[in-house]
Amino acid sequence: MSIASKEERLKRYAEQGWKEQLSQYVNTLERLKEFINVTPEEEEAIETLHTKWGTTPYYAALMDPDNPECPIRRQVVPCVKEKENSYGMEDYLIYKENRATGEKRPDSIARQYTDRIAFTITDVCANYCRHCFRKEVVLDQKLELRFDIDEGFEWIREHTEIRDVLVTGGDPFMLTDDKIEHVITKLREIPHVEMIRIGTRTPIVMPQRIDEGLKKVLGGYHDVPIWINTQCNHPREITEYTSRAVYDLLSCGVNVGNQAVLLKGINDDVETFRELHQKLLRVRIRPYYVFYCEAAPGIDHFRTTVEKGAELIRDALRGHTTGLAQPMYVIATNIGKIPLMPDYYIVDKNEKEYTLRNYKGETTTLPNIT
Ligand SMILES: *Cc1c(COP(=O)(O)O)cnc(C)c1O
Ligand code: SF4
Repeated sequence: MSIASKEERLKRYAEQGWKEQLSQYVNTLERLKEFINVTPEEEEAIETLHTKWGTTPYYAALMDPDNPECPIRRQVVPCVKEKENSYGMEDYLIYKENRATGEKRPDSIARQYTDRIAFTITDVCANYCRHCFRKEVVLDQKLELRFDIDEGFEWIREHTEIRDVLVTGGDPFMLTDDKIEHVITKLREIPHVEMIRIGTRTPIVMPQRIDEGLKKVLGGYHDVPIWINTQCNHPREITEYTSRAVYDLLSCGVNVGNQAVLLKGINDDVETFRELHQKLLRVRIRPYYVFYCEAAPGIDHFRTTVEKGAELIRDALRGHTTGLAQPMYVIATNIGKIPLMPDYYIVDKNEKEYTLRNYKGETTTLPNIT
């Protein structure tokens, strides 16, 4: 069967609802071949890696059928390089989420800060991202966690210092409307919870999920707001359907931010990095974080140098484009997220003044108040 043109495919699949997206899920070699010309290496990876993979027909339709280096394709199709692991840490999530420390917590609760926690409620996703830092739970299923949400609610209720609950996964929007409504309602009943955050890739990989039913669950005025962060890593992931989904979320009073992952060969060049952040604003998504690709096992091939993200902010964003397009570059660690800024700003400092440098290399001075 020949592969239809990209526009034809996208149109054909994008108009379907989210349940159809899932019933026509792309997670077999045969299905994948309807979208791309699978290379022998890709076929080998699919047949020999013991890992979960798959995506929605909508997101699959965005892949370049002929180029295995396509930035979307590399996030979807397993790669033989996932077998190599020179720099990743085994049991990464145990370390990263402080699961071996003294504090007793349910599996669903990851804690690094005093006032906020990550609450994992599912390990199911719409797209199984090859670079996922939680791959030991989500893709490889080597680490089994109990997602007992009632146990999670109970823990949060007992910890009155928690004011911000980040609901995560997996992808929480893979749950039914009723289940999502239940989680939101239960959290809003806890007096010290001031805000709910949801991490979901669906606006990017399955924008059809933001439908009338979900809008009803999320909409209306509430004193406990919902903030969403999605994950978009490349400008080609942003379509008219993304734009509509984000607009609908905003219409429900839900803000939408982005948490990109810095990925070698996907978004680590100046042009792509700038275009990604400009295009996010065109569909009303506010760049929030860019993450250094974490040291999970089997994703060495996606990792850049640590400094790369700060260099890209220096060379592609700060001063070069809109202030709203500036994310913070962070390294996520077991002791929290650590921001890394470009280090060119302060050229010199003496008792009298600071010498500051801008993005063009020009300098200026500022009095030093001692
Ligand atoms: C990322 C994360 C948070 C939220 O961090 P923010 O910087 O507030 O976005 C909270 N808890 C855990 C365990 C996290 O990994
Ligand atoms: S959607 Fe998130 S949790 Fe799921 S595979 Fe992608 S990065 Fe991992």
